Amino acid sequence: MTHLGTSDQLLRNTALQWLGEQVQKFGDVLPASMLQAGFEFRNRQVPIISQQGIFRPQGFEVPLSIRTGVNSPYSDAETDEGLLRYDYEAGGINRRSNAGLRHAMNHQIPLVYLKIVQHKSPRQYLVLSPVYIVHDDPSTESFLVNLEYAMGMHPGLVGSQRDEHVADSYHDIYDPQKQVERQYALRTYKQRLHQSTFRENVLHAYRNQCTICSLKHRQLLDAAHITPDSHSDGFAVTSNGLSLCKIHHAAFDSNVMGISPDYQVHVREDILKEVDGPMLRHGIQEMHGKQILLPKGRDHKPDRDRLARRYERFLEVG
Ligand SMILES: [Zn+2]
Repeated sequence: MTHLGTSDQLLRNTALQWLGEQVQKFGDVLPASMLQAGFEFRNRQVPIISQQGIFRPQGFEVPLSIRTGVNSPYSDAETDEGLLRYDYEAGGINRRSNAGLRHAMNHQIPLVYLKIVQHKSPRQYLVLSPVYIVHDDPSTESFLVNLEYAMGMHPGLVGSQRDEHVADSYHDIYDPQKQVERQYALRTYKQRLHQSTFRENVLHAYRNQCTICSLKHRQLLDAAHITPDSHSDGFAVTSNGLSLCKIHHAAFDSNVMGISPDYQVHVREDILKEVDGPMLRHGIQEMHGKQILLPKGRDHKPDRDRLARRYERFLEVG
């Protein structure tokens, strides 16, 4: 990391490290409120995100984060080179925010990319860091962003090694071999985005509760698929999802428990007869015959046809 004052370098390192710790703790989708509050640095709070798409917190020379907005006119799209396109803010390259990103590009300065995955309150962002701007395209008024490092493709590269590696990537955006690597990073990103969006939509619809036992700890909740997700984007609709805690997700997937199309919980015959500790008794057997908790809004309710097909399999196994 060069061509930055020590204050920016220190703040930026602290920001990236703090974000890394939050991702370790909470996963790579973080609420807007947490990013707005940011981290404490010498008795003041440093936010990661603000109203601006390209954000340079106080004390930074160059922007720290770029994000996609809620009703933003700017969109990101993938390029053939395996990079993500990020549009200038209106006002051309001389606008301070855009000029800041160009500066970040010229000096390989790491940035944070925040992609919205839940628009409804509480808003949630997928966090990608570090990302690097590798190309500036004035003709389309957009930057190209390299996601490789944020997607964990070069875990062994740290410090100056990574700086060198990043510096190389500025010269070879058309190198076919590098393009293959970046395409891979982009695919990984799209999968993660797809999964995160599905998860956030489903959890939001069920108000962050397990539909069977009403457990309310997000970290213990999954968005389970009713019809398995082997066909990529096709089934990313909330009505193909169920918000389930980890144990009930596993029980549902392994046909220990089933949910009939009339939204009733069923425990497999042989499991009902078993005698064991409190997890089996309270966590599983006592759920038999319960109605699941349903989300508001007809579009979000579990699809009865999908449930019926799934339930048939449950009966076959039992
Ligand atoms: Zn549960």
